Amino acid sequence: MKFLLVCAALCLINSLCMADGQKDIDMAKQSDVYAGKTSDVKITYIGHGSLMIENNGKVYHIDPWSNMGDYSKLPKADVILVTHEHFDHYDKALIKQLSKEDTKIITTATVAEDYGKTANLTVLANGEDTVVDGVKVEAVPSYNIKHLRDGKNPFHPKGRGNGYILNIDGLRIYAAGDTENVPELKKLEKINIAFLPFNLPYTMDKEMFEDLAYNIQAEYLYPYHTMSTDQKAIESLVVPFGTIRIRKFQK
Ligand code: ZN
Ligand code: ZN
Repeated sequence: MKFLLVCAALCLINSLCMADGQKDIDMAKQSDVYAGKTSDVKITYIGHGSLMIENNGKVYHIDPWSNMGDYSKLPKADVILVTHEHFDHYDKALIKQLSKEDTKIITTATVAEDYGKTANLTVLANGEDTVVDGVKVEAVPSYNIKHLRDGKNPFHPKGRGNGYILNIDGLRIYAAGDTENVPELKKLEKINIAFLPFNLPYTMDKEMFEDLAYNIQAEYLYPYHTMSTDQKAIESLVVPFGTIRIRKFQK
């Protein structure tokens, strides 16, 4: 009897916890629209780590990668953000294809070294920020501590890659890049919409993802960079706050 009571109590606690985090699973949906202070902000998943944000006639491409979709059907960029130099995030030919004469590129020193420094390219180190067309873009750390290549070097060394927070019309939109739940990310100011990576061995496991989600407390949270991750594992993620949005991230 005592055992049954304990079970019932645990189930109740579990269901109460689950009630806080909503799940929105719509595998056919590619875009979500969020209300900013005075305008709509539309976020489209292209695939894997590639996103597109549209607001007030401006187009932001984040880590555009040609393997993830037919970019010839998408609008060119006003701003292109690249989190780091790996092939699934930095696609030089596509950046050129998506660029107009005045397109701004925001990226890391390592990417800039390969791309070539141009007047429209801004390098941000972790902790730095810049303003493009009234939108503040903050670069935050994005790296591995636990997951190592050949058991020695982090897949993503500290200080090389950036996650980005875009402040668009009152919304703070965070694309984390390839990172683990590193200490700096637990102190981020209020995030409205977060994209957090969920695949091994390069980014986070379930425990790390849920820990970071707990700390960020975003209103909407998307698992992304999920190319090699089992769909059931994605659907098993539990976030204690806000809504977790599970979408089809492959083309
Ligand atoms: Zn990477
Ligand atoms: Zn990656």
